[in-house]
This record gives sequence, C-alpha cells and structure tokens, in this order.
Amino acid sequence: MMRITMPEAFLLYVAVPLAVLLWVWLSFSARRGAWRRSARRTVVCRFCGERVTISPDRQEFRCPSCSAEQRVFAQEYHE
Ligand SMILES: [Zn+2]
Repeated sequence: MMRITMPEAFLLYVAVPLAVLLWVWLSFSARRGAWRRSARRTVVCRFCGERVTISPDRQEFRCPSCSAEQRVFAQEYHE
C-alpha cells in the first residue's frame, strides 16, 4: 500500500495535468511545424501564366511549362 502525504498528493494533482497539457502543446506545435515545412506557395509564370507550386523558402524557380527561370517577385499567390 502506497502512502502519499498531502503535499505529494497536491504535487501530483498539479503536475499530472501540467504534464498532459505540455505534451498536448508539444504535439500540436510539432504538427504545426510539419505543416509549415510541407507548405507550398503558388507563383504564376510571367511568360506563359502557368501556376507553379514551389516551396516557400525558394527565391528562384523554373517554369515546367516554358522552362523559363525567374525570380519570385511580390505578385505571388498564397494559398
Ligand atoms: Zn512559363
């Protein structure tokens, strides 16, 4: 039989929900980070109007339709 004193019971009562909350928050933020890493943005080719999906950290892309290399400018489309 395990005996726990009042401070220990109080500590358990506080620490266990806190640990659960921390775990939930960590798993949620990890999922959000994964979502952000897999996020794509769509830019429109200036030459042929093709919508090209690239990763958000890229500044240059090659259009698959007319194979023109170009930089990403301000007129980009976010989805
Ligand atoms: Zn193009």
